Amino acid sequence: MFIDHEYIERILDEAKSATKEDIQNILEKAKKRNGLSHEDIAVLLQADDKNLKEMYKIAGDIKNSIYGKRVVIFAPLYVSNYCVNNCVYCGYQRCNSFKRRKLTQEEVKDEVKILEKMGHKRLALELGEDPVNAPIDYVLECLDTIYKTQNSNGEIRRVNVNIAATTVENYRKLKKDNIGTYILFQETYHKPTYDKMHPKSIKGDYNYHLTAFDRAMEAGIDDVGGGVLFGLSDPKFEVLALMMHNEHLEEKFGVGFHTVSFPRLKKAKGMDLESFPNLLDDNMFKKIVAITRIAIPFTGIIMSTRESAEMRRELLKYGVSQVSAGSSTGVGGYKEREEGKEDEQFKTSDERTPLEVLKSLLDDGYIPSYCTACYRKGRTGERFMKLAKSGNIQYVCEPNAMMTLMEFALDYGDKEILEKSETLIKNEINNIKRDDVRELVKNNLEKLKKGERDLYL
Ligand code: SF4
Ligand code: SF4
Repeated sequence: MFIDHEYIERILDEAKSATKEDIQNILEKAKKRNGLSHEDIAVLLQADDKNLKEMYKIAGDIKNSIYGKRVVIFAPLYVSNYCVNNCVYCGYQRCNSFKRRKLTQEEVKDEVKILEKMGHKRLALELGEDPVNAPIDYVLECLDTIYKTQNSNGEIRRVNVNIAATTVENYRKLKKDNIGTYILFQETYHKPTYDKMHPKSIKGDYNYHLTAFDRAMEAGIDDVGGGVLFGLSDPKFEVLALMMHNEHLEEKFGVGFHTVSFPRLKKAKGMDLESFPNLLDDNMFKKIVAITRIAIPFTGIIMSTRESAEMRRELLKYGVSQVSAGSSTGVGGYKEREEGKEDEQFKTSDERTPLEVLKSLLDDGYIPSYCTACYRKGRTGERFMKLAKSGNIQYVCEPNAMMTLMEFALDYGDKEILEKSETLIKNEINNIKRDDVRELVKNNLEKLKKGERDLYL
């Protein structure tokens, strides 16, 4: 198996004896983006906090040089909380007794309409694992309903799907029905911890779970998004294992993770945080986000509303490139939120509306983006990575961010956000280096004001 536990533990141990000079040399290498070895990353993970400031700066510079100022916005949509597994950290575990439900297609439509009214264009479809109550056909039906549900100018243009590890045949079905990214968290790469966290369940098969992306890629899904639930095992171990998983996919399929998510363990129904000895404090969390940005510079880093507004704001500086906004983590949660009570999978910490999130991003100089262009232009998998690695992704990311921001401000914004957006765009448009692209964006912004929609490069 490609996650060699002894090797990871050995290099983490050896890295403890790195000298100040060793650390400085690695940081210099990181600045040049010459690629870091596992040993280099291990040294950064073990380095003490004196080096943090410099690491944060390098991570932030790397992110800016690849993706510019755009921050992609999305929302999760929970459609079913039936689950046959017993993951000890999750509110949906089968031992928890509460009324399980899955949305009917009418209810999916209602949720999508609410999300569209918030301005969302990108969703992450979420559900528990239950082959009887929520089989693959149910997921396909939901996908179809989401794409077909439109609401004046509102439409969902990309649906990423987070479903349990499954067969090549099922992944083929998802591919055929226009899945965006296939998302699956390994939860923990540390096998003994994995076994402990997933007792007596389908998900308990570590190797089957670990090779899910191999099967997805074999089925033709070339954008996959990994992740670890930080807090289950040693975070340093997890970061190195994530790197190895990414390399495995690169070697075998020519492309690694499209995105990596950074959920941190939160209190949920039926579990107590005290029984998890590997919880990370804020400093360690920031450090591993920055090191991941340095280690896999071209991969999108996603941060959910599990984290507070302040934490998300800070991590955007060190490498995060996508955030969720206005999220509900309960089944039917968007409608229920309007009515009063949600039954969540876990607690969220940032409860601001998308409008509030966008305003604060604009105040910090970012360009919030609802762009879904790459996937719709066929820039996925290797094609996408080539564009990212050549540095040319910026020429589409920022222009698309400006256009989708304008679209949002016109359709869902208030006077304040329209003004903020116009001011930011006026400044940023002059930073577009290519004359033809700048002119095109200017024309498209005018077209948007006249009522055209969905313009992208
Ligand atoms: Fe089910 Fe997923 Fe929760 Fe595990 S983490 S209990 S598979 S919903
Ligand atoms: Fe994402 Fe591509 Fe749009 Fe950039 S241009 S925000 S990479 S979809």
